[in-house]
Amino acid sequence: MAQELLRANEEIARENRAVVDAQKLLTINLISAPGAGKTTLLEKTIAGLKDDLSIGVIEGDIYTTRDAERIAGQGVAVVQINTSGGCHLDARMVATALQALPLNMLDLLFIENVGNLVCPAEFHLGEDYKVAVLSVTEGSDKPAKYPLVFREAQAVVINKTDLLPYTDFALDTAVKELKSINSILEIFNVSAKNGAGMEAWCIWLKALVHQKGQSVMQ
Ligand code: MG
Ligand code: ZN
Repeated sequence: MAQELLRANEEIARENRAVVDAQKLLTINLISAPGAGKTTLLEKTIAGLKDDLSIGVIEGDIYTTRDAERIAGQGVAVVQINTSGGCHLDARMVATALQALPLNMLDLLFIENVGNLVCPAEFHLGEDYKVAVLSVTEGSDKPAKYPLVFREAQAVVINKTDLLPYTDFALDTAVKELKSINSILEIFNVSAKNGAGMEAWCIWLKALVHQKGQSVMQ
């Protein structure tokens, strides 16, 4: 049953991918545990990129619209998905959300997944890349405990680095652990709150947007 569910999801994810590919729209699936700071990271990322890129956001949440309201405050196109208790987004939900966005006007689409490091790793949505967000207020053993999401991800944002002095988070160990799980991971040390490290992350995103814009046939 679970395998069947994942296979059906996979099929819709491929259709979603074809839809965003047709628009040369770079799509990023943001995954983290609850409270890692995905929404704050998104707000600051949008602020850093919106002069150069046209950005859309699909905001996954279990019940509330709070995060979507925060993102809408940034003046970008936002669609809310409420999973009504569901602990992950699936490709069908994203397919519906895609229909509500002006895809042909966008360069970059973020999908903020539901806060959860387990099943979002398995449910592909049609994204180009998964990016995992890990905050230093979590244990630095998170990568070892939830390896699949870090294996699936192309990049990890280690967030809340401004809090490093007040935590036991071992940054070097976490980075080593991440690299041993996935040697090609891009790792960004960021404080979305004070802006540290945000530039490198934004430059990486811009390069990917540019790459996708060029690579897909017109
Ligand atoms: Mg959020
Ligand atoms: Zn789930």
